[in-house]
Amino acid sequence: MTKIASANLHTEIPEGTPMRKSLSLADHEAVLSYLRARSVLWPDAEGGCWEWVQYCERDGYGRFTAEGKPRYVHREGLKASGGFIPDGMTVDHLCRNRACWNPSHLDVVSREEPGTRIGLAS
Ligand SMILES: [Zn+2]
Repeated sequence: MTKIASANLHTEIPEGTPMRKSLSLADHEAVLSYLRARSVLWPDAEGGCWEWVQYCERDGYGRFTAEGKPRYVHREGLKASGGFIPDGMTVDHLCRNRACWNPSHLDVVSREEPGTRIGLAS
């Protein structure tokens, strides 16, 4: 696995940083292979979590940058797996592992605390 510098994934790219190959969120296969390459996929017998091992925010959610914006790993992983997240809905982790993006561990629910979440583009 290729280690990438993760410290600046959620902020502006510093001057002089070579551009990474851009990732299109519309290309679901590319998103899934990008996420898989940066995760530990546990067998079902061991909990079955697909655990993001790159940058996580202090809130514990995995983040990556695509199309110039920070993205939640679990939200984009779910959408790339064929899931749909309606406006105003949030994605809850049934497994309580916030770094996990296994679609079968995720549940789309209404926001219980409106306004308290970071307004990341979906
Ligand atoms: Zn999980």
